[in-house]
Amino acid sequence: MKTIDTTSPILSARGVQHSFGPTEALRGIDLDVHPGEVLAVMGPSGSGKSTLLHCLAGILAPGRGTVSYASRAKAPVNISGLGEAERSSLRLTDFGFVFQFGQLLPELTALDNVSLPLLLGGTKRSEALHRSADLLARLGLDGFSGKLPGELSGGQAQRVAIARALVTSPAVLFADEPTGSLDSLAAENVLTLMLDLVREAGTTVVMITHDARTAAYADREVVVRDGRLSAGHRVAA
Ligand code: ADP
Repeated sequence: MKTIDTTSPILSARGVQHSFGPTEALRGIDLDVHPGEVLAVMGPSGSGKSTLLHCLAGILAPGRGTVSYASRAKAPVNISGLGEAERSSLRLTDFGFVFQFGQLLPELTALDNVSLPLLLGGTKRSEALHRSADLLARLGLDGFSGKLPGELSGGQAQRVAIARALVTSPAVLFADEPTGSLDSLAAENVLTLMLDLVREAGTTVVMITHDARTAAYADREVVVRDGRLSAGHRVAA
């Protein structure tokens, strides 16, 4: 099992609460995520996992509480206190996202989908294409750069989505049921490739999963129940 620096968290949630109208989705979450760890977030459907991920990633500003983010390169920021535009820019530069259904742009090729976050961040097109092609190759997709998402299998499309999420070398990868739409063989394949890349790069991962086999790939798991964290425990990497 690898050693994780537990002294200075990269993400730290304190007293995070969030409601959607009358629904209290999060009822006071305290959570530290450590640099380089792969954290699995488990729990029943509707327990608040996605809302927590959205608060940690600055997609949502929580109704109460704070989320702070400390990357190696910059001073800590209170994400929950940032405006929408600042959160959006932080997401682009520092975070990567993979969702259950890859959410690739259907009219763009695999290569163009992967290049997009780099181009949005101002990378030169030739360099963006080069880095994207490299990453697709690492994910076993060298022959598929020119394919549209509709021409790919579910597992191939998720690998493209993972390449798109990692091409900017994010400090944190947020994954919401990244293999939830795949059969178990494809899921294991996609997960293994994803974790090889993040462990090599030292990327921190926050991954929602309802599947204990998927969670077993993580360094640690926490369980969300009814908007609260119940005891998590370390699991073998
Ligand atoms: P999980 O990811 O564990 O399935 P969610 O975080 O998606 O749980 O949802 C937690 C609770 O908040 C649920 O009761 C859900 O119905 C509610 N909820 C989530 N998003 C919204 C929303 N945009 N509008 C209204 N209610 C929501």
